[in-house]
Amino acid sequence: MTTYTPMMQQYLQVKEDYKDAFLFFRLGDFYEMFFEDAINASQILEITLTSRDAGAKERIPMCGVPHHSAKNYIETLVQKGYKVAICEQTEDPKQAKGVVKREVVQLITPGTIMEGKALDGKSNHFIGAAEQLDDTTFGYAYLDLSTGEAVASSIEGDGKALLMQMQAYGIRELIVTDSLQLLLAEHAVNAGIVLSIEVNEMPMDKAASYLEAVPKPLQIACLRLLAYIDQTQMRSLSHIQAFTFNEIKNYLRIDSSSKRNLELIQSIRGGDQKGTLLWLLDDTVTAMGGRKLKQWLHQPLATRSAIEARLAIVTDLLEEYFVRTELQASLKQVYDLERLAGRVAFGNVGGRDLAQLRDSLRQVPTIQQQLVGSNKETLQQLGAELDTCSDVEALLAKAITDNPPITIKEGDVIRDGYNERLDELRYAARNGKDWIAQLEQEERVKTGIKNLKIGYNRIFGYYIEITKSNIHLADLTRYERKQTLANAERYITQELKEKEALILNAEEESLTLEYNLFVKIRDVLKTYIPRVQALAANISELDVLLSFASVSEKYRFTKPEFHGGRALKIIEGRHPVVEKMLNKQMYVPNDCVLEEQNNMMLITGPNMSGKSTYMRQVALIVVMAQMGCYVPAEKAKLPITDQIFTRIGAADDLAAGQSTFMVEMLESQHAIMHATKNSLMLFDEIGRGTSTYDGMSLAQSMMEYIHDKIGANTLFSTHYHELTALEKDLPRLQNVHVSATEKNGTVVFLHKVKKGAADKSYGIHVAQLAQLPEEILARARVLLENFEAGKEVVAETQVIAEQPIQMSLFTEDEPISPAETKVLKKLEKVNILGTSPMQAMNILYELQQEL
Ligand code: ADP
Repeated sequence: MTTYTPMMQQYLQVKEDYKDAFLFFRLGDFYEMFFEDAINASQILEITLTSRDAGAKERIPMCGVPHHSAKNYIETLVQKGYKVAICEQTEDPKQAKGVVKREVVQLITPGTIMEGKALDGKSNHFIGAAEQLDDTTFGYAYLDLSTGEAVASSIEGDGKALLMQMQAYGIRELIVTDSLQLLLAEHAVNAGIVLSIEVNEMPMDKAASYLEAVPKPLQIACLRLLAYIDQTQMRSLSHIQAFTFNEIKNYLRIDSSSKRNLELIQSIRGGDQKGTLLWLLDDTVTAMGGRKLKQWLHQPLATRSAIEARLAIVTDLLEEYFVRTELQASLKQVYDLERLAGRVAFGNVGGRDLAQLRDSLRQVPTIQQQLVGSNKETLQQLGAELDTCSDVEALLAKAITDNPPITIKEGDVIRDGYNERLDELRYAARNGKDWIAQLEQEERVKTGIKNLKIGYNRIFGYYIEITKSNIHLADLTRYERKQTLANAERYITQELKEKEALILNAEEESLTLEYNLFVKIRDVLKTYIPRVQALAANISELDVLLSFASVSEKYRFTKPEFHGGRALKIIEGRHPVVEKMLNKQMYVPNDCVLEEQNNMMLITGPNMSGKSTYMRQVALIVVMAQMGCYVPAEKAKLPITDQIFTRIGAADDLAAGQSTFMVEMLESQHAIMHATKNSLMLFDEIGRGTSTYDGMSLAQSMMEYIHDKIGANTLFSTHYHELTALEKDLPRLQNVHVSATEKNGTVVFLHKVKKGAADKSYGIHVAQLAQLPEEILARARVLLENFEAGKEVVAETQVIAEQPIQMSLFTEDEPISPAETKVLKKLEKVNILGTSPMQAMNILYELQQEL
């Protein structure tokens, strides 16, 4: 180490503490990276790798990025899951003795990045921490550094369930202990979550105020999270709010695979949100409202009073059409108050941010008046509760210019009249400039040179410029030559020099003063942050409720009613997303009536008849109602549901490489272990992933178990017609079916759910509708009868055996050709799960070519 230059020794010492991060080492206008960091970063960021003499025998690898464009590079690295340590010069190089002092001022990580795409307006950017409480329970905490929201809760299940929950919240980085890291590492990679280890906890005396609402066992996760934030951000974070405790029993719990199956927030195909319930319900007009809606979808309520309070506001908003439209128009003018408050606390707030804060706050009295002026008590109360933060608005109105630039270094942020000294300095600078403009006029008159001009550049300052052809007109005794250009000369005069000094001094001093004033204002604002955050919370809730009202009106939703029992009654219910996606066709509404003593439904009917849609629509109506939104039904009378479980086949089971049947069994196990009589369970085609008798037996025994031991409201769909006989033995079970008919020779699905089991031969019926040859249909009817009578089904082979010619293809005396063998071998190697339909077509085509 001693052979390196002092600066390189300094680098190595700092790097020692940040081994798992890219160290951005400030050298003048650049951040430089060295050694391994340089090699890796040059590849990831596609920047040139160079080398540098560092005192040792060999040159060392180096690469760098300009300080002013570092943001993008940092974002790229962090997006890819890396961490970046920012090491700045912490003393003025002019005053430094020896090597300039440098220190890491911030560690930017996937969960703590405060700039760029990660902070998409309508999504929170959470960082989490988890702690194993016992074999089946994890405590966790998460917070959004940009908005300051912080939450603590717990989850039952294994490490994978925990990670899926974290993934569902959009958490990119999870703070864990070493042992938990071992447990989670594999799944974390799949879930795209970076695990970071933190062994320290924030001391209780510093953290107490954050934890008042958090029960003891969950506090450790909070304390580690706070310690990590403290460690990495290295600044006061006055905007982080006290952790709210999400007590499980107050919320409708939906495990993350059910959230996906029901397409609440993400569609099953992944990618964009189109086709999700979030997409349908989102008529919010602020980014804060968008985030709040997502949070409510993640956690619908499970206490009747809270749900009914939301519904009451939606009802009143629906009745006050004008107030509603006015409110939405006002809300559109409100910027992201939460993130602006976060930037104030974080210290990266700019002039433009403060102007946005001011302009947003300016809207609040209007919003308040609109609420208070309405005819509804709930709205009047919302208005009365708003803290308009008018003192903050007044301060900003007085201090900040109308349109300040983004950065504060350019000046023009502080309004005239705010500070006397600043006014003086600005006056001096402006005055000086006027004087120069006048001088230009005078010099033109004196010399008679019309194109004489006075200009300014950073190196030479102010100068008088005269083109070469006019120089003979000038009185050169008054001028001192400064610079010669190709076709002009530049001069300076004594007078001009003096004025220049005055102007430049005034400008420099005014910029410094402006900066200091700005910092003072920012510090004053910090003390107001909790109030601005409370206001932001109120505004975002109002935005979501307005959104509920507007979609309820748009899609003809009705107000759900709740009662204390278990019965669930939906009249003319619809699947809101399928309905919206249907073009031209009408959505066929369906009832769902589950009585207290008859609350299991077995749904039969052919494929594509609408069984799965029917089950999902029941779940979506329950979710929407418990969020406090109106529902797509003529009438809905609902119990309070505690949990929703779904076993619905999803395309991504296959993509994940697990056998569909195993996934099915795992999800069923999870549901059966956790469901209560207050839950809603949906089982779509249970048991279809295995052989008939196997699957049928499993389906039946599950139904019996749920019937006898759990008693949850349950919808089962099946194509095992035999199961419909269970209705006789299980008093809680009712059969329903979805039928099909025929029109102009094609099968038409009516999508209408009717009482009773489907016709036992509905499969053959559909085949008939599809106009399969009568010969096949007749044969199928005979076979069906045989199966039902339990007769041995040997006839089929006999029939085939009577026609040996047809068998010839498969007899051994005709060997398979080499070409065929080759094709078979190729076919065997195809990875079907990893093949798109288009690729499959191409493969088929190629195989055919070889025969
Ligand atoms: P299944 O589960 O019986 O195979 P799905 O529920 O997947 O059938 O429904 C198949 C398609 O039928 C859906 O994609 C939808 O387009 C349409 N569909 C289902 N239910 C209805 C309905 N009630 N009204 C109109 N179209 C419907």
